[in-house]
Amino acid sequence: MDYRTGIGYDMHLLAEERKLFIGGVEIPYIKGLLGHSDGDVLLHAISDALLGAAAGSDIGEHFPDTDPEYSGISSAKLLKKVLGLVRGMGYKIVNIDTVVIAQKPVLSPFKKLMQERISEILELEEGRVNVKAKTNEGRDSVGREESIASYASVLLSKGV
Ligand code: MG
Repeated sequence: MDYRTGIGYDMHLLAEERKLFIGGVEIPYIKGLLGHSDGDVLLHAISDALLGAAAGSDIGEHFPDTDPEYSGISSAKLLKKVLGLVRGMGYKIVNIDTVVIAQKPVLSPFKKLMQERISEILELEEGRVNVKAKTNEGRDSVGREESIASYASVLLSKGV
């Protein structure tokens, strides 16, 4: 059995008049994340972790923000494309662990929904995806409620 690990990180700025999507879940809040796509910081970190584990570069290279095809696109669709790439290289996802760092809104009530949605997008059974929610203790741009950041770690396997 061949195992590969990958890490991903992302950060997006919060802005007025944007819907807030994290982990493929729409979260009620007065602001949303800026981005060429829907700005889903958690799905971007997971996408990069998957590509990293497969030594497949990063989402910036696969889905350039200068390409109008990806303007306003759902990050769930991008993650599905990444899943196709990773599967095409013969890999299976063993598990995914993640951290979302947001001062506001409070994300803990949405962790389970995010886990379910990510599992659904990646066609994984329950118990293979974990979402942890943290604050930034009031410090830096996340702590000042100007941005939201995310980390993801994945394990892929190839073979029987
Ligand atoms: Mg991003």
